[in-house]
Amino acid sequence: MLDIQRIPLFRDNYAYLLTDRADGTVAIVDPGTEGPVIEAIDANGGRLDLVLLTHHHADHIGGAPALKARYGARVVGPQSDRGRLPDLDQGVGDGDSVAIGSATARVIATPGHTSGHIAFWVEAANAVFCGDTLFSLGCGRVFEGTYPEMWESLLALRALPDDTLVYCGHEYTEANGRFAESVDPGNAALEAEIAEDRALRARGEATVPCHLGVEKRTNPFLRADDPGLAAALGMAGKDAAEVFAVLRQRKDTF
Ligand SMILES: [Zn+2]
Repeated sequence: MLDIQRIPLFRDNYAYLLTDRADGTVAIVDPGTEGPVIEAIDANGGRLDLVLLTHHHADHIGGAPALKARYGARVVGPQSDRGRLPDLDQGVGDGDSVAIGSATARVIATPGHTSGHIAFWVEAANAVFCGDTLFSLGCGRVFEGTYPEMWESLLALRALPDDTLVYCGHEYTEANGRFAESVDPGNAALEAEIAEDRALRARGEATVPCHLGVEKRTNPFLRADDPGLAAALGMAGKDAAEVFAVLRQRKDTF
């Protein structure tokens, strides 16, 4: 049994503290800074075994060296980005497994936002930690990879079961919803989700994690191969990766 605690960092980042209740193993995903993470770890028993990194951006890795030094945790991250990450104890790639106590995280390569980006899927907890690849109602900017690469990465995440909870790196849902309804105005599932998210934010609550099954019906970036959405963009019959590229470029300037 894996307990998952969300830790807000900076303006809109989330790190996640994972505790395996079976043997007490504790892991942190994407500690962009150490202060609030140390507070959460110490309130959780003062143990940290693993630091899991999805990609090299500073707001996801900044706390890793201090946490490693303080708790003796092992740092795990994408092997292909070893040169841009804090000192890794274990470099991993697509298909590799990382044990978090009795739970297993499977590594899924998700290049696009950065070339070495990875996600960690913990099937036993119905959880995927996907950094800045997939967001609630959105996706990360394509900084280093190509649009077809990012689309393939989103397809790899979309292939996970509907009951998967998406633990993404940022609270961007409200702004993402505004863009999503602009390109997909007739989507009733999307309107319902936006209303629910607005209510959560109005109460000061997080919209993350979100449900992958809902994202499959509402997130335009997971639906670039939907003929209706392509037609609404004036791109009927176009390749899904091309539709995705146009969606992503429109969002960049929305
Ligand atoms: Zn990033």
